[in-house]
Amino acid sequence: MLPSELSQSKLWWNGPDFLARNDPEWSKDGEEIISINDEARIQSEREVKSKPTSGASLSCANDNVTEKQTLLSLENILLKERYSTLCKLLRVTSYVLRFIADLRTKVSGTEPNLSRLSLEEITEAKHIWYKHIQGAIQTSKSFKQVQASLGLFKDNCGIWKCGGRLSNANIELSAKHPVFLPNDHWFSTLLVEECHRRVMHNGVRETLCEIRSKHWIAKGRQFVKKIIAKCTTSKRYEGGTYQIPPQSSLPDF
Ligand SMILES: [Zn+2]
Repeated sequence: MLPSELSQSKLWWNGPDFLARNDPEWSKDGEEIISINDEARIQSEREVKSKPTSGASLSCANDNVTEKQTLLSLENILLKERYSTLCKLLRVTSYVLRFIADLRTKVSGTEPNLSRLSLEEITEAKHIWYKHIQGAIQTSKSFKQVQASLGLFKDNCGIWKCGGRLSNANIELSAKHPVFLPNDHWFSTLLVEECHRRVMHNGVRETLCEIRSKHWIAKGRQFVKKIIAKCTTSKRYEGGTYQIPPQSSLPDF
C-alpha cells in the first residue's frame, strides 16, 4: 500500500466496521470478514504482481494451492530485515498462520485460538519455511548434482532430506536424515546464529555439530566460520594470547 493510499484507508485507521459493534454480532458477520479477507488477498496479489517473484515462492514443493498462497503471503509479510533471530521469525510466522486459521474458523462461527503457541504450531511454521527455501533450490542448475551426491529424498511432509549411510545407526531420525538447506539464504544464517548461541558461543566445530543434529547446510563449515567471525559476543570474550606475567628481580647472591 502506498503512503497516499494509507492516509485514505478507512480499514487501516478505523479497523473493520464490525469492531464497532457488540461482540456477539461479530461471529454472525461472516460476510464482512470475508470481504476483509478479500481485501487483504487483493492487496497481497497486487504486491506479488508488482514484485518480481522469485522461483522460490512459485515452485513450492507442496502442490496444495492454499499453501502456495500462504507462502506467497508470508514472503510479502515477513521481511527478513525485521527478524534478528530464528526464534522470533518462527513465532511471528506461527502467529500469522494462526491469524489466517482464525479468520477461516471465525467465518464458520468457531472461537479464535487465544492460547500460547504450541510446539506443533512452531514446527508447522518451520516446515513452511523449509519448503519455501527448498523450492528455490530445485530450480537451480546444480540441484541434480547435489541430489545425487547427498542422496536427497522427500519425506512425508514434502521436505528434502539427506539420505546418508546412517539408516541403521542408533541415533535420532533427524540426525540420520537431516533437512537440507542452502548456504545462501538468510534463514540458514539465522539458523547458524541460533545454534551458535545454543552452544554458548563455542567454536565452529561445536556449532556445526549442533546444526547437523537436524540440518545439513551445503558447504557448512565455511558458512559457519564466516558467520562466527562476525559474532561480536565471541569477539568480545575470545581469549587473547597468553601473556607471561612480569617477573620480579633475581635474589641477591
Ligand atoms: Zn559468538
